[in-house]
Parts: sequence; structure tokens; C-alpha cells
Amino acid sequence: MRVAVVGLGAIGAQVLWQLSRVGGVEVHGFDKEYPGHQAAGVGGESRLFWNLELAEPAYTPLIERAAVAWRELEALSCQVLRDPTGVLIYGGEQDAQMQCALHSAKALDVPVEPLETPALRRRFPRMAFDDRSLGLWDINGAVIRPERTVEVTVALARRHGAVVHEFSPVKALDVTDSKVSLLSPSGRQAFDRVVICCGGWTPKLVPHIQQDVVTRRLTSLWFHARQDDFIDVPPFLRTAPQYCYGIPSHDRRSVKLGLGFNDHYVTGDADRLPRQLEGADLAAELGKFEWVRERMLPWLSRRPYRVETYVESYTRSMLEYIRPHVDNPNVIVMTGFSGHGFRVSPAIGEIGCQLVIDGKTSVDIGFMERASPVFSILDPKQGTTTHNSVMASNPSLA
Ligand SMILES: Cc1cc2nc3c(=O)[nH]c(=O)nc-3n(C[C@H](O)[C@H](O)[C@H](O)COP(=O)(O)OP(=O)(O)OC[C@H]3O[C@@H](n4cnc5c(N)ncnc54)[C@H](O)[C@@H]3O)c2cc1C
Repeated sequence: MRVAVVGLGAIGAQVLWQLSRVGGVEVHGFDKEYPGHQAAGVGGESRLFWNLELAEPAYTPLIERAAVAWRELEALSCQVLRDPTGVLIYGGEQDAQMQCALHSAKALDVPVEPLETPALRRRFPRMAFDDRSLGLWDINGAVIRPERTVEVTVALARRHGAVVHEFSPVKALDVTDSKVSLLSPSGRQAFDRVVICCGGWTPKLVPHIQQDVVTRRLTSLWFHARQDDFIDVPPFLRTAPQYCYGIPSHDRRSVKLGLGFNDHYVTGDADRLPRQLEGADLAAELGKFEWVRERMLPWLSRRPYRVETYVESYTRSMLEYIRPHVDNPNVIVMTGFSGHGFRVSPAIGEIGCQLVIDGKTSVDIGFMERASPVFSILDPKQGTTTHNSVMASNPSLA
């Protein structure tokens, strides 16, 4: 069987690797740049790996499987792909996401240390906590090395015979025949199965998903501390309605901050968005982060020393879009990882492979399609939506 994986980012790399391990499969991977390039959804040197679920209890088996699949990937590659730091999930004790995290901590039986406000203040004295905060110290939480993970995973796939086509944007997909043909710079090629994992670019190849999936540009800011050269904060994720996250660099000399869905740049086309921020646009973007610095980490430098933008795809339910193409079941579309795809990516790779080979998955993913929307898409071409009700990150909305 000839299979193509289009897009070798966080998800495509894992699908490629899993397929390369199956006997009788000739697998080809295509990327418009190369695996692990930093301009798509993978860049910025770090991603949080946390073990708790913040929104959908049915998601917990996937997290459980991902923890196992990560360990297998690290063992087989003999590489450290996640730094075992622990991760602090915290917020108001009544926040819906915090309640879900507590529920999943019990369901998953993962080692988690609950921390009331006084304990949070003692343990993490450099962070400012509101009264009635609750923290969950996810002991097995980690910081993923995203670019390295993709590079290493694709190298494993190559070792198993996968053919990797770099700088090969797939320009068109012909789904009218049971053999699916792809048009790339190396010409037209036919495959028995095709998996599309193009992140925020997926709607360009599969336009019908624009009813369900929108693309966003995310901004990451890197700060130094004003005085110290050591940033003594843990990797953290603050739950909505004051959603934000921070990841200290490996050398602890800086921290990277990020916000949630409602603060991302709206676009209907991943190729038509400003990637370099300057002038008024830069000022406006920095303004969105002010409250994090002022209220949570007031000792950070006033301005970031590094500003980068990335691209991600979001579904209306904030749960993955993993479904066959409406016009051809031999095409599997995997997108809409909604800001949390990296932590589960090795398990998603297994799911993609199972869908190609068996047409069904060992982990139940039916809940993803059934989940209720948390925002509506107003204009699919422009990517405009209503406010995402569960992800407000502006404290004035809290
Ligand atoms: C700033 C930021 C912070 C995040 N933080 C976290 C976190 O802490 N924890 C977590 O679990 N997740 C996090 N995520 C989410 C996670 O990184 C994404 O869910 C994940 O990268 C999505 O993977 P993907 O494969 O769908 O897309 P991508 O990783 O973007 O990969 C898509 C690939 O497709 C390629 N491509 C596009 N079009 C074509 C084409 N026509 N032909 C060939 N190739 C093509 C691109 O070049 C790219 O390599 C974060 C995302 C961002 C952007």
C-alpha cells in the first residue's frame, strides 16, 4: 500500500513514523519546508506536556496513551525529547478548567500535588497568586522540545524506509478516484491512502473543513528578568478565564509567555498574515500581555527581547478534527489541534496509522466529533468567530 502524509509538523511526523513501522506500507512524507522548521505550529523551543485535562473528561484515555507513547518514542530514539520539570496548573478553585483538571487527576491516577494559596506562595515565591487560588503540581509534567521531537521522529521514520520530500508543497489533491493523486513540485503522484496534517494550512487543501476549523496566528514573547539572571518560576498554565501560560527557558535565563484563543490574530488564510510584528501592531500585541507581567510576574523586564509568531488550527469544540474527507474515505484529515496537540502527538500518530491500516482506532475518539461548540464561525473565509466562551484570557472578563 502506498501512503502519503502531507505536512510533517507535530502530527504528520508521528503519523509518518507509525506508518513506516508497518510491513507492506510504502510511506512518503511531504512538507512545504522541512520537518521541524519553526514557522508553522512547532517553533519556539518549548511546549508544555501536562497530564491533566482542562475541558473534556472523555479526553483522558488519549492523555494516558500519549504518556506511554512518548516514553516509547524517547526510548526507541535514545533521545531526551521532554525535560522532566513538572508543570504547575493553577487558577481559581471554582474555575471550570480547574474543576475538570481535578476530576482528571483522579480519573488518570497520575501523581499530582494539590497546593492551596499559602502553599503556592511558599513554593513559588516569585509568582503572585490571587487569594483563593488552587494549584495542581503535575509531577510528571514536562517541557517538550518541539523542533527536536519532529526532527528525531522523522529520522526514525526514515530509518524504517519512509521517503521524505522536503520543500515539496502539495498544491492540489484529486479525490475523485479511489487512488488519490497529489500535485507537488515533483509532479503528480497517486497513493492508496493520504493523510493530511497541514495544521493551519489544512483548509487550503481541504476547503470544506472551513465550516469547522479556523486558523489563528499565535504570538510568543520571551522576557528576561529586570535584575536577576535566573528566572525561578516553574512551567505553568493558568486556567481560564485568566488563561495564559509561561515556560522558563532550559537555562532559566528567560521565560516565554503565551495567551489563549481570543487573543490570537484572526485569519482565513495561513499564507496571508503578518509574521513580523512592528510599530502599532507590535504595540497592540504587547498590550495584550501587559496584565500577565503586571499581575503575575512584575519583576520581568518591561519589554520582551524576542517576539515570534506561529500558526495553529482550532475547531469549534477545541477538540481535534480527525475524520475522513467527505468526498473520499481514503483521505484522512487530521487538524484542529486547538493549542494542545503536541502533548498528545505520539498517540495521535498511532491513531492516524490505525485509521489508514484498519479504518478504526484503539482509543475512542468519537467524542471529538460529538463535542459541543464553544464558539461559532461567523465567516469561514475570513476566519472570524464569536468569542470563545471557555478561553477568555483578559482578566477584565473574569
Ligand atoms: C505558540 C504555540 C504554543 C503552543 N503550546 C502548546 C503546548 O504548550 N502544549 C501542546 O501540547 N501544544 C501546544 N501548541 C499546539 C501544538 O504545537 C500544535 O497543536 C501542533 O503543532 C499542531 O500540529 P500540526 O501537525 O497540526 O501542525 P504543524 O505543527 O503546524 O505542522 C503542519 C505542517 O504542515 C506543513 N504544510 C502546510 N501546508 C502544506 C502543504 N500544502 N504541503 C506540504 N506541507 C504543508 C507545514 O510546513 C508544517 O510543517 C502550541 C502551538 C503554538 C503555535
